[in-house]
Amino acid sequence: MLRKPYKASACYERMVIIVKNLICITCPTGCRLEAEYAGGKLTVSGNGCKRGEEFALAELTNPMRSLTSTVRTANPLMMLPVRTDREIPKDKIGEVMKLLRGVVVERPVTCGEIIAGLAPVCDGSMIATCDMS
Ligand code: SF4
Repeated sequence: MLRKPYKASACYERMVIIVKNLICITCPTGCRLEAEYAGGKLTVSGNGCKRGEEFALAELTNPMRSLTSTVRTANPLMMLPVRTDREIPKDKIGEVMKLLRGVVVERPVTCGEIIAGLAPVCDGSMIATCDMS
């Protein structure tokens, strides 16, 4: 039996209060933020600039991250460092790491070359971060 998706009422939405302590990673200053989401409004304190508010909103609604890792190569003693070509949803990192376990690079690559597409999991690709001959 299929259940109807849960939909919060507008009244419930107004009652929801989320308070989170965050460290803004947008610049090296690393401001300590306190973000409060209540009644459909976000208030942020501790931010040194406007970008801190944008960061806090993204963290509370759809956190995104760049991912760096390594993939196997034909040479068992050598790994190829890779990174995503864009930020991906934080909750997809585990699935992307699983996908990378099956990748083996068996040819020379240049820095910035696409190594694997992430289409089954999310948008974007993994690209090489160095040359490999
Ligand atoms: S709030 Fe502004 S100044 Fe503070 S870490 Fe974020 S970007 Fe940098």
